[in-house]
Amino acid sequence: MMKTIIEPFRIKSVEPIYFTTAEERIKNLENAHYNMFRLHAKDILIDLLTDSGTSAMSSQQWAGIMQGDESYAGSPSFFLFENTIKKITGLPYIIPTHQGRGAEKIIFTVLGGEGKIFLSNTLFDTTRANIEFSGATGIDLLCKEGTQPTIPAPFKGNIDLQALEKTILEKGAENIPLVILTITNNSGGGQPVSMENIKATQQICQHYKIPMFIDACRFAENAYFIKLREKGYAEKSIPEIVREMFSYADGCTMSAKKDAFANIGGFLAIKDDALAMQCRNLLIITEGFTTYGGLAGRDLEAIAIGLEEVMDENYLQYRIQSTSYLTNKLADAGIPVILPSGGHAVYIDAKQFLPHIPVSQFPGQALACAIYKTGGIRSVEIGSLMFGKYDEQQQPIPANMELVRLAIPRRVYTQSHIDYVAEVLLEVNERKNEIQGLKIMEEAPLLRHFTAKLQPVVA
Ligand SMILES: *Cc1c(COP(=O)(O)O)cnc(C)c1O
Repeated sequence: MMKTIIEPFRIKSVEPIYFTTAEERIKNLENAHYNMFRLHAKDILIDLLTDSGTSAMSSQQWAGIMQGDESYAGSPSFFLFENTIKKITGLPYIIPTHQGRGAEKIIFTVLGGEGKIFLSNTLFDTTRANIEFSGATGIDLLCKEGTQPTIPAPFKGNIDLQALEKTILEKGAENIPLVILTITNNSGGGQPVSMENIKATQQICQHYKIPMFIDACRFAENAYFIKLREKGYAEKSIPEIVREMFSYADGCTMSAKKDAFANIGGFLAIKDDALAMQCRNLLIITEGFTTYGGLAGRDLEAIAIGLEEVMDENYLQYRIQSTSYLTNKLADAGIPVILPSGGHAVYIDAKQFLPHIPVSQFPGQALACAIYKTGGIRSVEIGSLMFGKYDEQQQPIPANMELVRLAIPRRVYTQSHIDYVAEVLLEVNERKNEIQGLKIMEEAPLLRHFTAKLQPVVA
């Protein structure tokens, strides 16, 4: 096999990216109050804020957009969507939603509520928010390896099986409506879950008569990691591995903005007919009729096509190699990153990278600003700006980790863009002692990272 990573596609339609000077970027940061979410996309050269809804669609998907049938009920685009998901997952009841959290809102409204407890390897923020909004509680039971950023292990997204059984016994199986495996584990660095772990989770769940669901946003990336890293799967095809993963599940939620290459959309897939009926009844109130669920016919068409395309091994090889290429390049330069690299993003440990900036001065945000200033690249802080809280005395409680995430949109940037990103990071590394901490000038009571205004701390 050749070493050069090549994109498994050629480009038919292009859009410009936006060049700025260093002076302009300094001004832009000031105007954006040092908050990445306040920057204008037109002032960004390479946008690694998120991999959600930012994929490039294929010519096939665009053709599907034109073929989308906009009938209110019974659109052929829905039946294509339904049949594709049935075939991929083996699950019988398919419910379209406007995006992942639409599916979450429905399932947790039906199953959640006061006193209910949901267990997971790690709940994604919108999943946890929907659980808590229903009055229920969410508990994360990530395996030990998953909590150690720089120590490599093949399946750092696994759930801790002992902790799972212990928690079921402690809390009572009757209070636990679902166990949810997030595949791959987005909040834990995009790390995969092994087939062995999925299967063992299902066995424990079956023993205690608790259904198991999969948060399937990155199911194809997870399947590829299983093929690469787990004994017995090297010769299996991705659709076979995917089918086995879902065979252990009683249902799934999915955001089509991730591994379906779509710019919007999602779904719920369910095994139990009574549960599916309850969900459909809610769907009609909140999202739309059962054959479109908050989406246009053309979206259903694009998602159905994307779900097939994402299982192409040439694509997955390029995707995973390109992420690990960037991760390894940074690691080789001595930049502390989460190892091994996950599927969709590179995570830098800003606390370790900038030891001269105390946690109270947001080293992750300071690093994100430095990366933008140096090369026009947008990343996102996942640390105390995003997850920090205050105690009763209004003293700040920091987050567990101070990370900066570089999320890679699917099929959007070329290998030379990735080389450029590495070059910028190496330049930031050279001059990291000049990076200053930040302080908050203005913040909202909830989800403050989206709107907060900050300023450099003057030494
Ligand atoms: C993005 C995401 C969601 C929510 O999906 P949206 O389409 O953004 O509502 C849920 N779980 C995981 C793991 C995700 O990455």
